[in-house]
Amino acid sequence: MTIKVKFGYLLAIFVATFSSTTFVSCQQSVPTKLTGGIGEVKVTDEFWGPKFDQWRTTTVNDVFDKFEGNYDPKGSRYLERDFEKMKITRNAFTNFDLVAEGKRGIGTHHGPPWYDGLIYETIRGAADFLKRFPDDSLEARIDKYIDKIAAAQASEPDGYIETYTQLMEPDHRWGFNGGFLRWQHDVYNAGMLVEAAVHYYKATGKTTLLKVAVKFANYMYAEMGPTPKKNIVPAHSGPEEAILKLYWLFKSEPTLKQKINVPVYETHYYDLAKFWIENRGHHVGFPLWGTWGNDESEKWIKERKYDDTKYGDHRRPTWGDYAQDSIPVFQQTTIEGHAVRATLLATGVAAAAIENRDPQYIKTVSALWNNMVGQRVFITGGVGAIAHDEKFGSNFYLPNDAYLETCAGVGAGFFSQRMNQLMLDAKYIDEFERVLYNNILTGISADGEHYTYQNPLTSDHYNRWEWHDCPCCPPMFLKMVAAVPDFIYLYNTDALYVNLFVGNETKVKHNNKQIGLKMDTKYPWDGKVSLKVTPESPTKLAIKVRIPNWALGQENPFALYQSNMSSPVVVKVNGQSVKVLPVKGYVTIDRTWKKGDEILVELPMKPRFVTANEQVKVLNGQVAIASGPVVYSLEGNNNPGLNNLKIDTSAAMQITFNPQLLGGVNVITGKGINEKSEKVEFKAVPYFAIGNIKIGDKYKVWINSK
Ligand SMILES: [Zn+2]
Repeated sequence: MTIKVKFGYLLAIFVATFSSTTFVSCQQSVPTKLTGGIGEVKVTDEFWGPKFDQWRTTTVNDVFDKFEGNYDPKGSRYLERDFEKMKITRNAFTNFDLVAEGKRGIGTHHGPPWYDGLIYETIRGAADFLKRFPDDSLEARIDKYIDKIAAAQASEPDGYIETYTQLMEPDHRWGFNGGFLRWQHDVYNAGMLVEAAVHYYKATGKTTLLKVAVKFANYMYAEMGPTPKKNIVPAHSGPEEAILKLYWLFKSEPTLKQKINVPVYETHYYDLAKFWIENRGHHVGFPLWGTWGNDESEKWIKERKYDDTKYGDHRRPTWGDYAQDSIPVFQQTTIEGHAVRATLLATGVAAAAIENRDPQYIKTVSALWNNMVGQRVFITGGVGAIAHDEKFGSNFYLPNDAYLETCAGVGAGFFSQRMNQLMLDAKYIDEFERVLYNNILTGISADGEHYTYQNPLTSDHYNRWEWHDCPCCPPMFLKMVAAVPDFIYLYNTDALYVNLFVGNETKVKHNNKQIGLKMDTKYPWDGKVSLKVTPESPTKLAIKVRIPNWALGQENPFALYQSNMSSPVVVKVNGQSVKVLPVKGYVTIDRTWKKGDEILVELPMKPRFVTANEQVKVLNGQVAIASGPVVYSLEGNNNPGLNNLKIDTSAAMQITFNPQLLGGVNVITGKGINEKSEKVEFKAVPYFAIGNIKIGDKYKVWINSK
C-alpha cells in the first residue's frame, strides 16, 4: 500500500512539496478502416441496458459531484486529514480556475498531480454515454467544465495545461529543471485531455475541447522528439493511444480542420505516438531503481544528475521497469511493472500496429499479451498481483489476496480489444470478456455510487468505498463500460465479426447496402443468442460469430486454467445446423443474406469447475466455479463455515435464475462438506456482485475440493 502511505503523509490538499511513486489510469476509439461499416449501436440488452442507464445517470454525476468536492471526507482517513487541515474538500475544478486566473507556483493544488487527467477521463466516459443517450443536463455540465479547461489553457500562450505543475512547481514543466515527471504526470494528463476531446467531439460535434487538445498536441509535438527536441516519453503510458485517436480523427474527417482555427498536422500526432513508443528505453541508464530504491532514485533525478555531457545528447533519466522504460519496447518480451501503465502502453503499441502493421510492433504486443494471459492473468481477468508499486508479479504468481486494481483490469481489457482488432482472432475477446464481466464489473456497487480499487479473489471483510484519496478507478471504469457497445461488432470490409453477446440493434453498411442487425439474448444468464439479419436487398457478406473458447472446454489459450466443460455449442442459420469448427475463434457464415434471416447460437451455460495449471502452487487442490463468462464466488452470508468448506466436484451443480437477487442473477448450488465432514449445500453468486448482499461480507473464489 505504498500509495496510501504516500498519500497519508504527503497528499494534503495544499502541500508545497510532494514525493513520488505514481500510477493512474486508461482509453478507446477505433480506426476508421475498422469501423466504417457499423452504425450507431442501440443497446436493448436486459443485462447491460439497466446498468448503462444507472451509470450514465447516477454514476457519471456522482463521480463529477465528488470531483467537485461533494464527498464525505470521513470516508478515508487521508481525505479526513486533508479536510481537517484545510477546512474544505478537494475540488478538481478549482485547480483550473486558479490557473485561468494566472496563478503560478502558489503552493496550492487540490488532489494529486493526475487529478486533471481523471477529469478528462470522466469526460471521455460521459461522452461515450452521451453519444448513445443524449442528455442535455449532462452535456451542459460538461460544457461548463470545458469552459474552465479552455480558460486555463488561454492563460498560457503555448497551450500547456497541467494544473499541478503550474500551481506547485511551474519551473518543472515535463519534469525538467529538477522536477520529476513520474510523479508530475504532465504527459499523461495531456494525453487524457486529447482523448476526451476526440470522444466529446464525436458525441456532440462540439469543438471547444478539440481546439484545446489540438493546440496542446501541437505544443507537445514542437517540444518532444528526436534531437534537437526534448527526449520525453510519458512516464505513465496512455497518451500513445490517445494521440493516435487525434490522428485518426483528422485523417478520417479532413474537413474538420477548417472548424478548428488552430493548425492541424495530423501526421505529427502519429509521429509523436511513434516517438513515445520507440524512444522508451533510450536514456542514460540511471537511476538504478531496483538497487537504489525509489527515494534515492528520485533524489538523483531531482538533482539533475542525468543532465551531464558524459551521457551525450538527448539525455534523460530512465523511469525504470515500473514504467516499462528500462529497455526498448521491442526488446520487451514479458509484461512488467505497474500494471496500469504496462497494459496502457501495450494498448498504445497495439493501436499503432493497427495503423502501421509494423512486424516489430506486432511481435512485441503478441509477446506481451501471451505472457500476460499465459502466465499472469487471474481467473477473473484481473492483472497486477503485487500491491507494492501496483505491479505484475512473476509467472504463475497468482495469490488469492492479489491487488488486481480496477484500472489494471480496464487496461488489460483495452489491450485485448485492440489485439482483436489487430489480429482478428476471437481469443482476445475471450479475455476481454473475462475481465469485463468479472474484474471490471466488480469495480462498482449495485447502487452505482461505491467503488473498488483492489479486487482480490478472497476477503474477510469486503467493502466498496464512497470516495478515495486516489479516485483513479471510477473514471477508468466509466471509460470502459461506456465503450462496450462499440466493441460488440467489428467490421473490416471483408467480414462482420460478432464479438460480444449484448442485445442491440444497429446497421452495417456493406458494399453500399444497409444491413439491419438485431441481436436478442439473455446472456450471460442464458446461452441463446439470436441475430436477425435484414438487408435492404439480398447481400453477400461473411458474418463471423465468435465461439468463446470456454464453451469448447478451453478455459485459457495457454492452459493456465482448465475446465470440465463438455456440452456442445450449437449454431443454426434459419433453423439449419452449421458445423461448429471455428477458425481463429469464429464460425464463418458466408452467404447472401435476405430479409428475415436469423443466426441462432446456443452456448452451454452449464456451471463448470475450473482448475489452475499445476505450476500455480497456491491453487493446487482448489476449484473455481464459472458459468459462461461469469466467475462465481461463495460469500459468507449464504455459506456458513466458508473458511473450511470443501467442494465435492464429483456432484453435479445446479443453476437457477433468481429474479429477486441482485437485480436478477444466476445462482449456482452444489455439494460440499464442512469442517465436521458433514454434507452441506453451497451457494455461489457472481463474483462481480460481491459485497452487495451483505456489506462487509467475506467471500472466496477458489475453494478447496474434496
Ligand atoms: Zn485505479
